Amino acid sequence: MAKISVKNPLVNINGDEMARVIWDKIENELILPYLDLKLINYDLSITNRDKTNDEITTKAARQIKIEKVGVKCATITPDEKRVEEYRLKKKYPSPNGTIRNILKGTIFREPIIIDKIPKIVNHWNQPVIIARHAFGDIYRSKEITIKKRGKLTICFEDEKGNKEEQLIHDFDSEGVGLAYFNINDSIYDFAHSCFNFALIRNFSLFLSTKNTILQKYDEAFKEIFDEVFERYKKEFEEKNILYQHRLIDDMVACLMKWSGGFVWACKNYDGDVMSDLVAQGFGSLGLMSSVLQSPDGKIQKTEAAHGTITSHYRQHKNGIQTSTNPIASIFAWSKALKHIAKLDSNLSLHSFSENLETICIDTLNKGFMTKDLALMCGPEQKWVTTNEFFEIIKNKIEN
Ligand code: NAP
Ligand code: MG
Repeated sequence: MAKISVKNPLVNINGDEMARVIWDKIENELILPYLDLKLINYDLSITNRDKTNDEITTKAARQIKIEKVGVKCATITPDEKRVEEYRLKKKYPSPNGTIRNILKGTIFREPIIIDKIPKIVNHWNQPVIIARHAFGDIYRSKEITIKKRGKLTICFEDEKGNKEEQLIHDFDSEGVGLAYFNINDSIYDFAHSCFNFALIRNFSLFLSTKNTILQKYDEAFKEIFDEVFERYKKEFEEKNILYQHRLIDDMVACLMKWSGGFVWACKNYDGDVMSDLVAQGFGSLGLMSSVLQSPDGKIQKTEAAHGTITSHYRQHKNGIQTSTNPIASIFAWSKALKHIAKLDSNLSLHSFSENLETICIDTLNKGFMTKDLALMCGPEQKWVTTNEFFEIIKNKIEN
């Protein structure tokens, strides 16, 4: 098989633990033997982030901005235990957060639906795509621990020194407080990303907020979406798809009632929570893909939605064969390659990526799968090891 030549380089971000083991196998066994592709590699393993004082993360994000496409392996976001485990200089922030803040854009999380794999929520027969606003709110908040009596206020000071201050709470016992913000430009970008994505995929779009309580903060999201929608309204009508704002509690109820087939625009924290709920409802974190897309749709960073799968890595290190699902990571590669194919108008690369996805789906539908998926199919379903699964996929690419 002659290698397919690829013009645009791909920023390849490696990560940690079992996800990294799978990542190297995808790169070396499923991609590089078939593509003449320049990879610009960044090692975001926790040890290398520590060695470079996390500068490697910022560099990787800037490189994605230049090349317009990146693919990322799961990485450890250290907590206290990890700081101890890896003897880190400090508790570094989430690399995904750092990259998001540099690239801006919206994260779209989409389940890979496989006929053979039963879903926990049986009637979700079309994808629910969670669009997560990747900026601000609690992720850029400041917290305070209140240890004594006193007043907690929030204050805005303009350039001339004029102040606008409001009392939040008059504490007469210990407690906690929090302040967070968002920026209209970022909400406009979010709205454009969402309307564009819904149009491309031909799905209705719903924005959820709690604007009955947050009549300024959440209302700003609703008003900006309403304003931006005016520019997309005609195209939505032509495609017979909807845009609606709904209260978050109502939207959660609709999610359970409906059968999928829509994009749900979520504020940052809601998107964090709902994407895991939706992933589980569709079956497995191992079948959830994730794309960070710039508002104009030109820059994409793709990844699997799951983490570094620590429990499997511990087995792997002890020489025990694991049965780890590589599908979401393979789809991260195929989606990044499809984005390059679009940028370069490279039809052969597009076909290669489509074929890789079809092979994965067919393999699962024929009953060859990893343990996480087999457990969902029932006690009769057999499973294969990580290495066996890769052998099957490799053979199918070759033949
Ligand atoms: P996780 O790595 O997603 O794993 C949670 C559990 O889900 C696993 O123990 C495993 O269950 C199952 N699982 C997830 N992916 C699987 C796959 N591909 N195949 C088979 N089973 C799979 O989440 P976590 O344990 O909460 O986090 C571990 C580390 O990942 C943390 O350090 C966290 O910071 C990091 N993380 C990174 C990202 C990212 O980079 N995008 C996202 C989330 C978490 P069983 O053990 O039952 O088999
Ligand atoms: Mg999360």
